Amino acid sequence: ALTVHVNDQNKRRRQILNEFLDLKGNIRVFCRVKPLGASDKRKTPVTSDTRNVIIKLTETKRKTYNFDRVLQPDSSQDDVFLEIEPVIKSVIDGYNACIFAYGQTGTGKTYTMEGLPNSPGIVPRAIKGLFKQVEESNHRFEITFSMLEIYMGNLKDLLLSQATKPISPIPPSLSIHTDEKGEIEIENLVNIKVNDFNEVFKLYKLGCRNRATASTNSNSVSSRSHCMIRVSITCHGAPERRRETNKIWLVDLGGSERVLKTKAIGRRFDEGKAINLSLSALGDVINSLQHKNSHIPYRNSTLTQVLKDSLGQDSKTLMMVHISPKEDDLCETICSLNFATRAKNTHLGQDESTE
Ligand code: ADP
Repeated sequence: ALTVHVNDQNKRRRQILNEFLDLKGNIRVFCRVKPLGASDKRKTPVTSDTRNVIIKLTETKRKTYNFDRVLQPDSSQDDVFLEIEPVIKSVIDGYNACIFAYGQTGTGKTYTMEGLPNSPGIVPRAIKGLFKQVEESNHRFEITFSMLEIYMGNLKDLLLSQATKPISPIPPSLSIHTDEKGEIEIENLVNIKVNDFNEVFKLYKLGCRNRATASTNSNSVSSRSHCMIRVSITCHGAPERRRETNKIWLVDLGGSERVLKTKAIGRRFDEGKAINLSLSALGDVINSLQHKNSHIPYRNSTLTQVLKDSLGQDSKTLMMVHISPKEDDLCETICSLNFATRAKNTHLGQDESTE
């Protein structure tokens, strides 16, 4: 009996090891470089190719940062979506997934996620793509949509007005729970069943408006809060699937600029500090996942608590780091590239001398 027990343990060990090894490649880090005007182009210290961003530190010193993919200043929204499409497909295949837009304010995070009416970004394309794949599948799926914001560590429902149950004068507070299967539930979060792309798109626009309305009252809060969209897909009558419900989070993160450098004071300072803390907590979680640490510090921020079951394990994560190649933004650009490098689990960019 003892040999059987030891064999079972070894089997389980191998299984855990394999699961960990499978993690490799589940976190992808991309970089998108913002286009510049002609006058800034001449002075930029940033050049890039499909895998590398090269920073000119001095006349003779360069630093190269490697990525899984670099989207060039002239890359179109089509090019970007082509790169992230496999992540969308993995949700239909039974994985949880998470796509982040990271970067200093003004580097194009919202452009990448939301896009413009004539140049839609990842969110509308991903939703369209999900519906298309559901239609082509042999299984019966149910899709639901939620949208929230994290501001100063607190969760705010952006679709509250769409709640089907009557709302009391005080909106119900959202709280994070883990169910018996280890799945994260956000109690009281409005979760709406949607039948086609147009229904989702209307809700998405409403959520964006709810966010924008609040921000005019308090100095563009949007850059100092995280905007998070959750699309959940439940597959009925397919017991072979690893989970009945899978979800994808699409996250436009708050601006990563360092609060001390912005010389912000009062509430702005606190907002910036809250964003900086949660972004570093996110970086710590991704770094711990990449190093396969036994303890992953999910509890250190609301952001990572919400995403606990969609980061790591067998979830697919894509971090799109946005940088500005402008000379004046060089310090923030280097900070973002260092964040990305940590998330990628490689050593810091190599120093090169051109002498
Ligand atoms: P962020 O969300 O990071 O603060 P935005 O997405 O609001 O930045 O981008 C700032 C401005 O730059 C917007 O006017 C946006 O349309 C423009 N922009 C950003 N990235 C691109 C791009 N790749 N191509 C064209 N315009 C862009």
